[in-house]
Formats: sequence, structure tokens, C-alpha cells
Amino acid sequence: MTRVGAIADEIVIQVFRISGYVKGPCSKCGKEERGLVMFDDYALGWECLGCGEIGRVDRVDWIEGPEGNPRAPDLE
Ligand SMILES: [Zn+2]
Repeated sequence: MTRVGAIADEIVIQVFRISGYVKGPCSKCGKEERGLVMFDDYALGWECLGCGEIGRVDRVDWIEGPEGNPRAPDLE
């Protein structure tokens, strides 16, 4: 898959590497409760845990760190 030229319409989300939490509010309900999902065709996307809305993305930016993680998961 090669893209040439403008990528202005590319959809990119930022995902916390450890938790799988997707940064930013849901486009439908506005809650920041989105998780990363993978579709049957291996495309990546997000699913809102609040309202169930899903969306596809072109690319994922993996980000580090506990900052912005609302769940603060217990590490085993
Ligand atoms: Zn939502």
C-alpha cells in the first residue's frame, strides 16, 4: 500500500501503548472513553465505550506515559 501526494484526509488517532486507550473525545457523544479495535480486514479503528460508536482510522500514533490515561490500570 503506497500513498503518494496529499494525505490531508488521513485519519490519525493517538493511542496509549500500554492501555490501548484512544486519546481524544468520541465524535458522537464527546466522552473520552474510546478503545482501539481491529476490524475483520485488519483495518484499525476505535470504539466508544460510552455510546458504542465506531470509526475507522488510517494510522495510529502510539504514545507513551500514564498522563491522560483515565483508568490508571493496576499493573500486575
Ligand atoms: Zn461515544
